[in-house]
Amino acid sequence: MISPEIIEEIRQKANIVDVISSYIEVIKKGNSYLAVCPFHNDKNPSLHISTSKQIFKCFSCGKGGNVFTFVQDYEKIPFIDAVRKVANLIGFHSDELDKPVRAVDNSTKQVLSALKEASVLYSFTLKTNQGTKGAEYLKKRNISEDMSDYFSLGYCPEDGESSIKILRAKNISIESLDKAGIVVRENNRFLDRFKGRVIFPLFNEYDEVVGFSARRINDSDEAKYVNSINTDVFNKSKVLYNYQNALKEAHEAGYVYVTEGFMDVFALYQSGIKSSVALM
Ligand code: ZN
Repeated sequence: MISPEIIEEIRQKANIVDVISSYIEVIKKGNSYLAVCPFHNDKNPSLHISTSKQIFKCFSCGKGGNVFTFVQDYEKIPFIDAVRKVANLIGFHSDELDKPVRAVDNSTKQVLSALKEASVLYSFTLKTNQGTKGAEYLKKRNISEDMSDYFSLGYCPEDGESSIKILRAKNISIESLDKAGIVVRENNRFLDRFKGRVIFPLFNEYDEVVGFSARRINDSDEAKYVNSINTDVFNKSKVLYNYQNALKEAHEAGYVYVTEGFMDVFALYQSGIKSSVALM
């Protein structure tokens, strides 16, 4: 838990005008600040922001609160996540903020950590010589490096062993890798399930990697896509591709496109639409 003292410290250090400005346009009028209210269908700027009181109030729909309430209601996230967001925005650091907010057991924590480290490794590999084939594939699909970064795309080394070795060197146990669905056992060896494939990480609403979808890039008759198996943190039928980004973008756009596949999400992104998800 984050202590009330830390929450109060963040509230005092944050400037509500700056925080709200990072979400919507804020207009300065004399000594006061106004904005078009995002909580109702506002035509005029009805949302008033008081710098002296560090609160906001909409004189049309009545919505009001402090810096945390705004972020909480705007992003539709739990209060404690709003506190973290604000801390992030103002560059406030505290060890307390790094503690997990959700009550996840130790084993789940390790599985999530294995998935995160694997995702980081795959993304890194994509930018190295080992990832050339993956990079070429994405280039052919008109997926720019910026897009690769935005969607945290990656490539799993072909040998199937080096990624596992690196992950184990990072103190991630085979057990966690197994529970995370990353390894397969083959002739008494542990190999990466996604070897030689382009990696599309899948996220949950907490922006945590919960699994992967991996596409083959050669002409073999292997399955075109290999998805993570269902694990403690991943259930294929409950995951939407690009959910974590669409969640934020949909607030501004006011809609979400539901598409059939990743490539649809990328195509929409290329035409400036970020609020789309794909079914798994
Ligand atoms: Zn309003």
